[in-house]
Amino acid sequence: MKELLIKSISVAIRFIRENPEVIFSLILLVFIPAAIFLNTYYTIGKFQKNINTIIHTKAILAENIINLTAKDLLASPDRLQTLVEKIVLENEEIKKFDILIRDENNEGFRVIASNDASSIGTDSLELQNILAWNQKEGIANLGGNDTERFWNITKTINDDTGEKRALVSLAFSLAPSDRLVNSTINLSYLMVLLTIIIVLFLVSNQARLFGYALTLSKLKEVDRMKDNFISMASHELRSPLTAIKGYLEFFMEKNEKKVDADSRHYLENISLSINRLESLVNDILEVSRLEDNQIPMNIIMTEPIPIIIESAQEMKPAADQKGLVLTFLPTSLPKIEADPERLKQILINLISNAIKYTPAGKIDIFAKAKGRKLLITVADTGIGISSEDQATLFKKFSRIQNEKTKDIVSTGLGLWIASDLAKKMNGDITIESIEGVGSHFTLHIPLA
Ligand code: ADP
Repeated sequence: MKELLIKSISVAIRFIRENPEVIFSLILLVFIPAAIFLNTYYTIGKFQKNINTIIHTKAILAENIINLTAKDLLASPDRLQTLVEKIVLENEEIKKFDILIRDENNEGFRVIASNDASSIGTDSLELQNILAWNQKEGIANLGGNDTERFWNITKTINDDTGEKRALVSLAFSLAPSDRLVNSTINLSYLMVLLTIIIVLFLVSNQARLFGYALTLSKLKEVDRMKDNFISMASHELRSPLTAIKGYLEFFMEKNEKKVDADSRHYLENISLSINRLESLVNDILEVSRLEDNQIPMNIIMTEPIPIIIESAQEMKPAADQKGLVLTFLPTSLPKIEADPERLKQILINLISNAIKYTPAGKIDIFAKAKGRKLLITVADTGIGISSEDQATLFKKFSRIQNEKTKDIVSTGLGLWIASDLAKKMNGDITIESIEGVGSHFTLHIPLA
């Protein structure tokens, strides 16, 4: 048992050391209920003291008034008894009310009127009475037991000459006020309990949030490790791929005349697959470099027309091969702020997509200045994209899979790379498309 306790404590200490954030939760958990408890404890103590004083004052006041009336009635005990009974009836706090005179021997006192009729005529040797007889201002003390507390007040009754004639002894019950105090105490403790429950709830909620934050940071770490792995793996794949590609080209060149039609077909398929693999590896590497901000941007004042022409010319053979008409009619355009190489990369990506997803028809490139931006649009008459798919188009690995695209090789990385590059040049890419009609991809680049 002891070992288990020590083990639990050391586990808790280690956890706090590793996660210092929980200290805040622990402080909340201890500090708030403790503060509320102390405040309640202090307020109730003060409240009780005040009530004691009030009742004390009330008892003394009552006794002074009784003194005034009783002194004239000392000669007629019956009338005195009626007065006592009347006062007790009207004041429920008065639990004992005796009027006593000195006995014949001048040693003790004899009860001549009392709320307890059976005690009339009995002798009393109570110390309180003897003390009070010898003190002008009387005696007041707090007494009673666990169930009921009293203010016991005893004072002499003097005649008009100041001569001591009798004693009045009152017991004022504190029970009604104690009941009130107790119910207030219970209510306050209930409130403290409620507060503790609320604080516990808040802290547990905070602990949950803390757990989420921990998971998130771990997830980020795993994500970073994954990115590192992908980057490293793609990098390592590149060299053997380049070697395979080189040797294959070398082999085809050398054996061009020797290979039969079947073998040629196989070799061409191998070459196609290697090209696909190479572009996938290149895309993945590009994504990881962009995410790590490892691609330096050389943003300079740039003439857009030569770059658009170069990109179109580079893609023309692919368009021709599919029988697509690719046109760009240059008009005069303002200069832009861009990295020329990256601008070309974006345009080639947009044009190659247009060629890929246009079975027949044409691809037009046009550009115009609008506001502080140059808008370069690649418009095709291809398969188009539904508005639903447009929403996820620029996400990583987002590929639209349907009947029309099922045979087209795609990684879903090209548009993510293009739009990230555009953003790094303070630009953007937008899309307008109608399914079955065609798509307009527009690159927005700041003017110089
Ligand atoms: P990839 O470069 O591998 O084709 P992208 O990120 O460039 O991937 O494109 C993502 C998806 O967007 C593609 O799989 C394709 O379905 C769709 N897409 C891109 N360009 C066009 C276009 N011009 N016309 C129709 N669909 C397109």
